[in-house]
Amino acid sequence: MTRRLRLAIPNKGRLVEPTVQLLKDAGLVFEAGERALVARVQNFDLDILFVRTNDIVEFIADGVAELGITGLDLVAEAGRDVAQLRLLGYGRCRLTAAVPNDSPYKCAADLAGLRVATSHMSLTKRYFAERNIAVDVVPVSGAAEVAPRLGLAEAIVDLVSTGSTMVVNGLRPIEEVFESEAVLLANPAALRDKPAVLASFETMLGATLAARDRKYLMMNAPEEKAEELEALLPGLESPSVIPLARKGMIAIHAVVEADAVWSLLPRLKAAGASGILILPIEKLVS
Ligand code: AMP
Repeated sequence: MTRRLRLAIPNKGRLVEPTVQLLKDAGLVFEAGERALVARVQNFDLDILFVRTNDIVEFIADGVAELGITGLDLVAEAGRDVAQLRLLGYGRCRLTAAVPNDSPYKCAADLAGLRVATSHMSLTKRYFAERNIAVDVVPVSGAAEVAPRLGLAEAIVDLVSTGSTMVVNGLRPIEEVFESEAVLLANPAALRDKPAVLASFETMLGATLAARDRKYLMMNAPEEKAEELEALLPGLESPSVIPLARKGMIAIHAVVEADAVWSLLPRLKAAGASGILILPIEKLVS
């Protein structure tokens, strides 16, 4: 008997909440208990393994899990053979080289001959090696931002999302080393052996993410306003135009970017639309 499919996701840290939310929004039914290591998905042939964010790539590369979600930085750092199925749009951050505010260094080349503290050894070494800048990369297991103050290094390379941790620690960013976000990964052999089921999982997450960014708009308008309104509604494809029972009136339906809705409404009204409805979209497969 073949075992159930396994998806490895983070058990701690900043990727947990958005990952669990995405899986729930995708319609998977499971209990994400505080200390549970494995959750059985009730409506999909899948077990969810909760593991350390840093271990997820190894789990997938070794075939312990067919699928997994973690940060792109950790995939690049591990350098293992895993397939990237889809970027997920959350957990965005930048691996950034920074120096103390009062130091004279302005770019990566200025760090030649100096020490750089980081917990992202491979990415940092690769970045400087590719640019032929000889630096001494000092490994730290966390809290790289205190390394300059402790006299461990002249610069650091660390992950930044808002930049506030750097500011609090008196650091100034000088170069972007790597851009990261959460990513859906697969074991390459599993992708060859079970392409259909892995593809259906990937489509499920993709459709959930696509739906989040869009709204379904419905409105009525006099027939002669159709062209003007269509021009305002690019949507996915062309909007649907449906005749109404009342002669000379039409309904227009369109899928629009969620961020554009509020600026669109006054323009639709000015162009003759009335009775405008804004509806959420559950899933969108394009
Ligand atoms: P964790 O240490 O478990 O919270 O997860 C670290 C992972 O979260 C990193 O490897 C990144 O992929 C991602 N991440 C997103 N934003 C940040 C940030 N501001 N600092 C550190 N990691 C971040």
